[in-house]
Amino acid sequence: MSNLPLAVVIDDETDICEMLCEIAEEEGYRALSYTEAEQLENQVLRAAAMIFLDLRIPGCDGIEVLRLLSQIHCEAGIWIISGCDAGVLQSAETLAKEQGLNLQGSIAKPLRYRQLQKILQLTLKPNQPQSYVNRDIEFDRRDFEKALAAKEFIPFYQPQVSGKNLQLLGFEALVRWKHPEWGLVPPVRFISFAEENGLIADLSNLMFYATFNDYKRWQEAGISPSISINISGVEMDNLQLPEKLIEQMTLAGMPVQNLALELTESTLMEEMTKSLDIMTRLRMKGMHLSIDDFGTGYSSMVQLHRAPFTEIKIDRSFVMKLPGNSEATAIVEIITMLGHKLGMQVVAEGVETEEQVTFLRQIHCDKLQGYFFAKPQPLESALAWAKQHRQAVPC
Ligand code: C2E
Ligand code: CA
Ligand code: CA
Repeated sequence: MSNLPLAVVIDDETDICEMLCEIAEEEGYRALSYTEAEQLENQVLRAAAMIFLDLRIPGCDGIEVLRLLSQIHCEAGIWIISGCDAGVLQSAETLAKEQGLNLQGSIAKPLRYRQLQKILQLTLKPNQPQSYVNRDIEFDRRDFEKALAAKEFIPFYQPQVSGKNLQLLGFEALVRWKHPEWGLVPPVRFISFAEENGLIADLSNLMFYATFNDYKRWQEAGISPSISINISGVEMDNLQLPEKLIEQMTLAGMPVQNLALELTESTLMEEMTKSLDIMTRLRMKGMHLSIDDFGTGYSSMVQLHRAPFTEIKIDRSFVMKLPGNSEATAIVEIITMLGHKLGMQVVAEGVETEEQVTFLRQIHCDKLQGYFFAKPQPLESALAWAKQHRQAVPC
């Protein structure tokens, strides 16, 4: 079988299938198309790197296919395509996310050649330098524990720049599993495994340890960036977390106020009292707290107000639709206003185009993060990026 990443198109319109397959092949994918749901094979769906799914297909509907993809733990990046109205697309997106699918977004029909080409170009291919695994990988608890012991989990750093002057402000540390045979494994493949198997705290510890120790390298380069680290809701039952972090940061010489912890909205909902206890103490010690993927969960204004967050991160599913989509535009504007009214910094993640940068700067978004500036990268290249960026940005 070919090593090329596989793109699967599921659409009853053969001309759309042809167009998508053609672009996919041009962009270095192997492409397969299906016009009916009955033809779908689990094995193929599991092997796919990217799936384009029409919501309306004969035999069954796209929502049923989403359920199937979730049941077989499909990890492909999924694009929903549809001629349905924005409301239907929106609920299909929500459903896909709730089912744990790696939803990339939705594309309304009629499809445009350039738009599709861009989507495929933005996806990492396995034969690029920082290549990601793109095949079935299987591991059990023991493999994972061995990988933890061998410190195979490392942070990649993605810059965040100021909306005001585009200067570098900090980095988000995103975990990668550097597997000796498989190469780089992205977090979507192992975070829920770690959570479900009681290993997430060990994984976080490794991330804390590595990022705190990396901090001297930033300081040596004359930079004092803020570093954001993601923590899982499962860890919010550890009342010792604030003290543990302070101890480790002091040992590594990283200033406490340069650390921000990112929590998703759903974390807030579970175990509110315990989380509040931990969050308040983290804040009192000077760390920053960021509410991640904002807009996708269910937190109410009251919760947002009650929890001591210093920062809101607007989910990239809204940012990617800027500035053309009027609903996404309204949502991003309102979240930015809300954040500012509550005295928080507002971050837009998933910024990929110059138009998005311009729009976000116009509405006074404080921080911008996304492939437009840089992808997450290992420490050495992030350091090089930071040095170069410092020269490139006018004061
Ligand atoms: P997240 O916290 O929402 O992180 C942002 C994700 O968006 C990252 O994916 C990043 O690579 C990606 N991204 C950034 N800019 C762009 C862009 O312009 N376009 C697109 N298409 N994507 C962009 P990544 O690194 O695969 O991480 C996925 C998720 O895994 C993270 O989502 C976070 O929830 C989780 N994660 C990552 N590292 C850790 C960790 O150390 N601990 C825990 N508990 N979760 C982590
Ligand atoms: Ca995050
Ligand atoms: Ca996020």
